[in-house]
Amino acid sequence: MKKGPLLYRGKAKSVYLTDDPDEVSVEFRDDITAFDGEKKAVLEGKGMYNAAVSAFLFEYLEIHGVKTQYIHMLDNRTMLVRRLSMIPLEVIVRNVAAGSLVKRYPFNEGDVLNPTVIILDYKDDTRHDPMVNDDIIFALGLVSREELLTIRKTALKVNDLLRTYLAGLSITLVDFKLEFGRYKDKILVGDEISMDSMRLWDGKTKESLDKDVYRFEKGDVMSTYAAVVERITPGALHRFEAEKTVFSGE
Ligand code: 5GP
Repeated sequence: MKKGPLLYRGKAKSVYLTDDPDEVSVEFRDDITAFDGEKKAVLEGKGMYNAAVSAFLFEYLEIHGVKTQYIHMLDNRTMLVRRLSMIPLEVIVRNVAAGSLVKRYPFNEGDVLNPTVIILDYKDDTRHDPMVNDDIIFALGLVSREELLTIRKTALKVNDLLRTYLAGLSITLVDFKLEFGRYKDKILVGDEISMDSMRLWDGKTKESLDKDVYRFEKGDVMSTYAAVVERITPGALHRFEAEKTVFSGE
């Protein structure tokens, strides 16, 4: 496996070409940002924590029949994935009211949402990721009706799987964001599923276990993330270290 040129540098991840045109490598960097990139920091080791959780959850989803971009880890912060053509939608699934939902609508933080709420945002920091409805999505030509149905169904299946798994660890999956992309006429789950993209509360104390710790300065981000990695992926960090494959840089 040869690491090729940089294809795209996002706020917290960098995507590199590989010698296979259908695959790219995603490096989870130590950058952390919030509020459309207005608040930022570098936290050493954070990339590895998010990569470990993302890899574990992608594998978990695959085992349970959800198609994702994930192939395998190349080192403890770099993931080999299928090269998707990303759809610029943030698909947010909410089980419990929190964050922007509480700001915009008359919910109280902690209200259990029935039904589960799916919110679709157009991914564009310069426009502050505006919420879109189906008509806007079709008028913009982002996806077909059939594709949107697949996206919604998949998002709910991912929610059922993750919520159940995390509940077993006494972690409440409050909400999370998914991104999807096209790969050879299929729609796959892309991007990441990590403490940066999920809102997680401890089942007993309701303490934040995710990026809200950074957003709202609720405590030490790295010790929170480290504890979550241990809870969600027992032994994974050791495994990635041990199984590290040779990934030749430029
Ligand atoms: P909220 O709309 O309450 O700010 O976010 C809802 C959920 O979606 C949270 O779990 C949050 O982490 C995730 N989310 C929303 N927008 C973004 C985004 O632009 N980037 C990331 N990483 N997560 C997001």
